[in-house]
Amino acid sequence: MNKKKMAAFKKILLREKEMLEKQYRDLEQGNLLASQSDFSGEMPFEEEYAASGTSTFERERDLSLSENVKDLLQKVNEALERIENGTYGICEMCGLPIPEERLEALPYANLCISCKQKEEQAMR
Ligand SMILES: [Zn+2]
Repeated sequence: MNKKKMAAFKKILLREKEMLEKQYRDLEQGNLLASQSDFSGEMPFEEEYAASGTSTFERERDLSLSENVKDLLQKVNEALERIENGTYGICEMCGLPIPEERLEALPYANLCISCKQKEEQAMR
């Protein structure tokens, strides 16, 4: 992945992190209803990636309660670390590059689609 792409993903992840931290604080304060309503209203990827599917990301996000927000925040932080150490966009299981469409839909993805499917099957 080139530096420009990487920088774009970093920006998205930082924005996502900020949003998740805010949601987490709101949830912690018990403002469940307030944060749920900004949840669906906020579409951070729309501007830059209007054409690509955000459905996986949205679905994962919809499950959210405070635990889930915390979990996502951790994934976003890990993705930011991978950007820093240059392993972002590489599948942690097979070491192959994760397709950019997948990263656009799920910027904190750490596995390629086939490894993710294997992981999900293993959990069943
Ligand atoms: Zn893989």
